[in-house]
Amino acid sequence: MSQEYDVVIIGGGTGGYVSAIRASQLGLKTAVVEKGKLGGTCLHAGCIPSKALLRSAEVFANAKNGEKFGVIAPEVSLDFRKVQARKEEITDRLFKGVQHLLKKGKIDVYEGKGRIIGAGNVSVQLNNEEEILLNCQNILIATGSRPRTLPGLEADGKYVMTSDEALQMEELPGSILIVGGGVIGIEWASMLIDFGLEVTVIEYADRILPTEDKEISKEAQRLMKKKGVKIVTGAKVLPETLGKGEGVSIKAEQKGKEVPYSADKLLVSVGRLANLEGFGLENTIVEVDRGVIRTNEFYQTSESNIYAIGDVIGGLQLAHVASHEGIIAVEHMAGENPAPLDYTLVSKCIYSSPEVASVGLTEDEAVAKGYQVKTGKFPFRAIGKALVFGEADGFVKLVVDQESNKLLGAHMIGPHVTDMITELGLAQVLNATSMEIAHTIHPHPTLAEAIGEAALAVEGKELHA
Ligand code: FAD
Repeated sequence: MSQEYDVVIIGGGTGGYVSAIRASQLGLKTAVVEKGKLGGTCLHAGCIPSKALLRSAEVFANAKNGEKFGVIAPEVSLDFRKVQARKEEITDRLFKGVQHLLKKGKIDVYEGKGRIIGAGNVSVQLNNEEEILLNCQNILIATGSRPRTLPGLEADGKYVMTSDEALQMEELPGSILIVGGGVIGIEWASMLIDFGLEVTVIEYADRILPTEDKEISKEAQRLMKKKGVKIVTGAKVLPETLGKGEGVSIKAEQKGKEVPYSADKLLVSVGRLANLEGFGLENTIVEVDRGVIRTNEFYQTSESNIYAIGDVIGGLQLAHVASHEGIIAVEHMAGENPAPLDYTLVSKCIYSSPEVASVGLTEDEAVAKGYQVKTGKFPFRAIGKALVFGEADGFVKLVVDQESNKLLGAHMIGPHVTDMITELGLAQVLNATSMEIAHTIHPHPTLAEAIGEAALAVEGKELHA
């Protein structure tokens, strides 16, 4: 049996399924091949389940600390099975939503493993073992990524985990070592300390969240330590020293010395590897460079009717990036003239408590690009709504071009900043100046007042500090 399509999408994660919806809106006859579950990493092993657990951890921590709000709950306890059940309920609901959207868009979904067998031909090994052939004008590769491990620190189902296994834990251990203090490592550290574990983060770089603005990293480190997370930086974990027995032990090299660490479990969060295997890349001339598929700005690979988007092409491995790349790719296939994605305008969020969010250049990046910069900073402790929330740590920092006053970058750490960053993303899209941001009326009392004040602070004109 064979079927004809304008586009066959291999991988139904955020990148793949959003591309499919847009392709169908554009009138393209579209198929998605998914070997696991529609929604991919983000929905089943990433964004959504991790945020569901983070929210439970936050509610647990707030309930225990209710006294400062005058709420006394003497016996707060955690039912981790319910925590996991709630997470499953949310993902299941969203999964059904994605299935419904694809059905509504008249998109054919093939549950099975897709394999490119030549230009315009994809074979699908269906989950029921049947094999079918799809003929198509274009192929979109959206096969995503998987957790990277360090040789010797592979997940073992008992002591060593990646985020995939951690999300499925049936019960919480008493303590954990987290190898890697990047975005995923810090989200887990924040969540697990709030659930009451002893948490140690071991990071190779000299600071956690090393891709964030330095001042944000420093504040994040201070606030994580204040919550009780032990943070070790400039430390290289030595996988060959891993010991298992009553929990795990491992050594890390720090300033020429080998320092031992131990805990009940170890979580490895050292990045993600693009999924390049098992879908017939060898039957194409698609170029792979440093572990990711190479594309042009419209996501065409070196074989022009094979496109690739999302985690499999590297760069910013984020769900909203994957979906935007996919939209551009299918619009290009349909003969539209989409504007290429400006990656400096992508907002990045970290859902720890407190949260971190940023868009644009860090102060160091702006200086390295030759800008003369000025900055404006404003703390949440001077914002009424933050005090009302009882979450007054952190600040907003704006990086502005000295000459034109244009916003170059915005960096925030504090309560709900992931919901506030889009204002600054829009400001950047519209080339706004700091004074235009300051003239935007921020209602009182809101957390966003910190943005208005930071904009005023660029000129030393902040009102409440
Ligand atoms: P994926 O979502 O990985 O989807 C790829 C799909 O392809 C999978 O479903 C896979 O089964 C399928 N597939 C692979 N090979 C084949 C084949 N041969 N045939 C058929 N199907 C195939 N991003 C954010 O923006 N915000 C967050 O808060 C966030 N939190 C995260 C938390 C964690 C713990 C993790 C691990 C990631 C997080 N991410 C977050 C990143 C986000 O999940 C990814 O950037 C996003 O899922 C990438 O989408 P994608 O479509 O490229 O790939």
